[in-house]
Amino acid sequence: MTKKPVPYKIYLSEEEIPKQWYNLNAAMKVKHAPFLNPATLQPCSAAELSQVFCAECVEQELNDKDLYIDIPEDIRAFYKMYRPSPLVRAYVLEKALDTPAEIYYKFEGNNTSGSHKLNSAVAQAYYAKKQGLKSVTTETGAGQWGTALSMACAFYGLDLRVYMVKVSSEQKPYRKEVMRTYGATVIPSPSDSTEAGRKILKEFPGTGGSLGCAISEAVECAVSSPSCRYVLGSVLDHVVLHQSVIGLESKVAMEKYGVQPDIVIGCVGGGSNFGGLIAPFMGEKIQGKNNIEFIGVEPASCPSLTRGKYVYDFCDSAKITPLAKMYTLGCGFMPSASHAGGLRYHGMSPIVSALYHEGLMRAVAVEQTKVFEAAEFFARTEGILPAPESSHAIRAAIDEALKCKETGEKKTILFGLTGTGYFDMAAYKQYNDGTMTDTVPTDEELAKGFASIPAIPQNN
Ligand SMILES: *Cc1c(COP(=O)(O)O)cnc(C)c1O
Repeated sequence: MTKKPVPYKIYLSEEEIPKQWYNLNAAMKVKHAPFLNPATLQPCSAAELSQVFCAECVEQELNDKDLYIDIPEDIRAFYKMYRPSPLVRAYVLEKALDTPAEIYYKFEGNNTSGSHKLNSAVAQAYYAKKQGLKSVTTETGAGQWGTALSMACAFYGLDLRVYMVKVSSEQKPYRKEVMRTYGATVIPSPSDSTEAGRKILKEFPGTGGSLGCAISEAVECAVSSPSCRYVLGSVLDHVVLHQSVIGLESKVAMEKYGVQPDIVIGCVGGGSNFGGLIAPFMGEKIQGKNNIEFIGVEPASCPSLTRGKYVYDFCDSAKITPLAKMYTLGCGFMPSASHAGGLRYHGMSPIVSALYHEGLMRAVAVEQTKVFEAAEFFARTEGILPAPESSHAIRAAIDEALKCKETGEKKTILFGLTGTGYFDMAAYKQYNDGTMTDTVPTDEELAKGFASIPAIPQNN
């Protein structure tokens, strides 16, 4: 085969947007353990889950049989407004690093919400509308998920209530205005609009809130109205499923030029972009068709894979969600105030957790000053101002490329560039001012988080 020269950007046509998502859960030989009802410790039934989530998302959540699941034409029509996303050959970065490695990145920041989260927001809003629901609720910490969902809800004419962690809504007032522009109601959490919020306000007057508290408020609000459901932007299998468009498009684009990645890298918060990016490549690895190295990159301040335990734990800190078997730092773990808001989660996608446990991928933890060093280098070479979350993947990609420089190996590296960092300028300011610090939890601090893991038989 004669190899065509690879352009700076590989664009696919609209027709090449996938018509089906790739269900990594079906490709896995060892399935992850089911969600458990914390009261009965029995697997959650579809009926139980459907009280909180949209019916079709529950069906996808529990589907570990169908390798491909059709993307409804309506969702593809929305995808066409901002997809296919470009796959970029990082020629300028390669040259600046003086590496024999070839570096590619899949850029998901090319939409107004600024991240990959829109891929699942659109799908979840579509299914809510199709079910005849009038409204959905969610929580948002850093704001990317709330923004993506408000765009999707505006498109499908759904009311949206976003419980935004109070400190974030004060620190990022413009994020809030983007959501309001798309018609969402943004409520700083804790609020007096729910039982859970009132209770926390009474107990801790003046608190800045937390993600766990915002989840409790959003879930309470959803279950107290029959035409409302709660939607989540990461962690769950159906979110990983929706994000498989990232990996499917990447694979088609690379195959067009006869390129095969040796290493695939993504940042991991709840695991959805990473799970989606690696999905079709990992499926083939499980079938013995490739030997790709997969690397998940997490912040050293919130190291759920590299230092967490693989046990059943709550998905939220208020302990109201089902129990998931996953790598976790304990639902009571309070990560330090690092700038990668989207990666500050105590647990990890059950799919990614199972892959890690089976030894099919590895994980690295990186400190934020090193992450911003990479972000700055990337901005100055490739031009894109990356989100702090995405910059974790950049850090690892640069490190792998520098290893190639030492060994002379000509590896092909693919990484996920999940979003842009325009709302994170306070973080960039700290970095530029030289006042950014790294906080890595001590073993004693981690022990406190582990103590919050529910005391249930963990052998199942
Ligand atoms: C939310 C977010 C992440 C992390 O979420 P995952 O579910 O782990 O993908 C990464 N990058 C950006 C830009 C985000 O907004």
